[in-house]
Amino acid sequence: MAKERIYLDWNATAPLLSEARSAMLDALALSGNPSSVHQEGRAARAMIETARRHVAELVGATPANVIFASSATEAANHVLTPHLRMGRAPLAASRLYVSAIEHPAVRLGGRFEPVAVSEIAVLPSGVVDLAALEALLVAHPREAGLPMVAIMLANNETGIVQPVADAARIVHARGGLLVVDAVQAAGRMPIDINALDADFLILSAHKLGGPKGAGALVARGETLMPSPLIRGGGQEKGHRGGTENLAAIAGFGAAAAMAAKDIEPRNAAIRALRDRLENGMRKAAPDVVIHGSGVERLANTCFFTLPGLKAETGQIAFDLEGLALSAGAACSSGKVGESHVLNAMGLDAKTGGLRLSLGPATDAAMIDRAVEIFGKIGARRGLSGKAA
Ligand code: PLP
Repeated sequence: MAKERIYLDWNATAPLLSEARSAMLDALALSGNPSSVHQEGRAARAMIETARRHVAELVGATPANVIFASSATEAANHVLTPHLRMGRAPLAASRLYVSAIEHPAVRLGGRFEPVAVSEIAVLPSGVVDLAALEALLVAHPREAGLPMVAIMLANNETGIVQPVADAARIVHARGGLLVVDAVQAAGRMPIDINALDADFLILSAHKLGGPKGAGALVARGETLMPSPLIRGGGQEKGHRGGTENLAAIAGFGAAAAMAAKDIEPRNAAIRALRDRLENGMRKAAPDVVIHGSGVERLANTCFFTLPGLKAETGQIAFDLEGLALSAGAACSSGKVGESHVLNAMGLDAKTGGLRLSLGPATDAAMIDRAVEIFGKIGARRGLSGKAA
C-alpha cells in the first residue's frame, strides 16, 4: 500500500481549514450583493464586515482600515505606488526602497517605474542591513517626493524575522512611509500594526488556512491611502472596485480568527517539531547548512542546503519519496530558479536551498519520516559523490 504523503510546504500554501471551508459554504448560500440595501444584500454585507473584523484583529488594526483584495500580490501592487492621498491632499512618493529578500510581489516594485526602485542590502545573517537603509534615506532627494520603504516581517524562504519596528523608526525619522509584507508572519507570530509602526501591512488568506485568491491591504490610519489600483463601483469605500468575492472573504475571515487564537502554544509545539527535525537532519548529514539558525526565525521554517545536492534535483528526490517541500519560493508555477534570498545573503545561490515548512497539522511521526527520507537522500548523495 502506498505510504501517506507528508506535506511540509506550509509556506507555499496551508491546507484550507474546516472553519474556513464552512464559512465559504455559508457565503455561497447567500444570494445578495453586499452593496444592495435590501435584506439579502445586508446579509452578505454583514458577512464581509465580520471577516473584516477578524482580519483586523489578527494584526491589531481598525476594521475600517482593512481593504480586501484578490491576493497579497494585488494588495502589494495597490500600495506600492508613487500616488497617494493624505486626506484630500495628494502625496507623492518618488522612490521605493525594497529589501533584497522581498517576495517578487513586492520586489518588482508595484506601480513604481523600475528606475525608481532601489534595493536595501541584507547582512550575511539574512537580516536587513539597517545601516544601509539609513544611508539610502539620508541620500534620498526630498524635493521630488517621499521615500517609500518595503521590508517584510518574515522571509518566505528562510523564515528569518526582520527588524521592522527598528526600520520604522529610521523610515519615519526621514519622513518616509513603511510597507510591511506580513504574509508569512501572520498567524505564525503575534502582529500589532501599531507596535510595528508600519503604515501598511499586506496579508494573504491562503498562508493561514484560508482560500487561495484572497488578500488584504491593511492601513494603520484612514487618512493616508494609496490611489486605487482597481476603480469601479465604489466598493471597499472606493479603494478597490468590483463586487466582493464573498466566499473568499468569508473564508479569509474565518481563517484569520483561527490564526489569531493560541499563537504561542501553537508555535511552541511547532518549534519543538522543527527542532526535532533539524536535530535529526544534523545527525544524518553533519554537513547540512541550516540557514538562519542563529537569528530569530519563524518557528515553522527550515531552509537548508545539502552540499552536493542541487535544490531542483533534491526537490524531485523528496517528492518521489513522498515528501512535499519547496526549492526556495514556490510561487512561480513550479519554476525552480536561483534563490535571490541566498544570493542576497552572499551564499551559493546556484546550488539553491530546500525549504521544509511545518504547520499545525504536522506531527512527530511525519517529522521522523521526513528525517528518514532526508537521511536516505543525503546518503545517496554521498555514495554517488555528486548530486543525487
Ligand atoms: N509575500 C510573501 C512573503 C509570500 O510568501 C507570498 C506568497 O508566496 C506573497 C507575498 C504573495 O501572496 P499571494 O499568493 O496571495 O499573492
